[in-house]
Amino acid sequence: MSKDDEMNSKGYSRKEFLKHLSIGIGGAFVLPGLAGAYRVDSNNHPYYYQQWEKREDLPDSEKLGIALVGLGSYAMGQLAPALQNTKFCKLSGLVTGTPSKEEQYGREYNIPDANIYNYNSYDQIADNDDIDIIYVVLPNSMHAEYTIRAAEAGKHVICEKPMATSVADARAMVDACNKAGVKLSIGYRLHFEPHHQEIMHIGQDEIYGPVTDMNSGFAFRLTDPNRWRIDKELAGGGPLMDVGVYAVQAAMYTMGKLPLSVIAETPEKTKPELFDEVEETIRWTLEFPGGQKATGESSYAQSYNYHHANTTQGFCHIEPSYGYGGIEAKTHNGVINVPNVGQQKLQMDAFADCVINGKESQVPGEMGLRDTKILMAIYESAEKGQKIEFDWS
Ligand code: NAD
Repeated sequence: MSKDDEMNSKGYSRKEFLKHLSIGIGGAFVLPGLAGAYRVDSNNHPYYYQQWEKREDLPDSEKLGIALVGLGSYAMGQLAPALQNTKFCKLSGLVTGTPSKEEQYGREYNIPDANIYNYNSYDQIADNDDIDIIYVVLPNSMHAEYTIRAAEAGKHVICEKPMATSVADARAMVDACNKAGVKLSIGYRLHFEPHHQEIMHIGQDEIYGPVTDMNSGFAFRLTDPNRWRIDKELAGGGPLMDVGVYAVQAAMYTMGKLPLSVIAETPEKTKPELFDEVEETIRWTLEFPGGQKATGESSYAQSYNYHHANTTQGFCHIEPSYGYGGIEAKTHNGVINVPNVGQQKLQMDAFADCVINGKESQVPGEMGLRDTKILMAIYESAEKGQKIEFDWS
């Protein structure tokens, strides 16, 4: 019996059933509710990884199939290995423009030829019932096209951060997924990471009083000139798009409120010949409704990785903050004693769980749209040298 023939209790085929669920909730999402994101209450609820550990693996035939699009360092270094340990989804397809990767990874991950596509045959995924979710892991400016084509093929989508290189693209992605009745989520893996979940709880639930101010930064030294990351057309910008987005996200999920305005600057470049198309370093300050400020910084010429929030009664601090492991956090009371976990497997399983059980993603496309508005406003402010007010209506 093929997967598509397997009938669930309501009499739909598995594929129809998933689609039916998505249509039911797809249009109901309201953007302003996205200020906070995932809520965790460590007094009453276990962290996501604890809930996940208690869940049974679905039988292999019931796991949702994920196809990775763009077989670069993140897809094949992190996501494909993580999909060997997921409970509700599995690696079922590959999309690549490089024939040698078809052969290499097809063999390594035992993917049948029928589930391997290139960028021309991509739309034919519509006819492949082994693939339920498409995970877009391409350079940033390609996210919109491949997300929209995935939606038009009737597949649910996970799109890597940064969601898009323009607000218009991000909105078109959300609209396309709503129109097709498929779910869209963004690869915000730290929403499933216990140190960050604890910071969300401390900030949003005002465990040590309201947040008074924040300071976050993520930077690494980029020296290779042959990277799409410094090509404005493909990357949409420099370090802000690549890693600064994590610092913006941290401020957003610690505060749990939409910002009123932003002011930003790009200091003079030390290597203008390398960073001729994108910023080398950028700094910004978001202002929130209570007057709280979140300063942030990102750079391709330095190295830092932290998030700090002061509250009326103390502080919380994560450093290193944004890696795949090795995260450490503390408050004025001492170390936050939670483990490092496999973020990608939790993130992908959480999305599969949402698709299977008709739940809303904790990191939906609308959150990516919100963040794209913030990133674009940061650039606009830096360019104009003036404060930009947000319109969240
Ligand atoms: P990468 O350069 O290693 O991989 C990009 C892939 O896209 C390659 O396989 C390349 O062949 C393919 N590609 C297709 N068309 C291309 C084109 N025109 N130019 C360049 N490459 C093209 O990049 P990566 O580090 O894997 O990043 C891919 C995406 O994943 C980016 O959006 C990035 O922001 C995101 N990412 C997310 C995380 C995370 O922790 N969530 C980590 C790394 C990267």
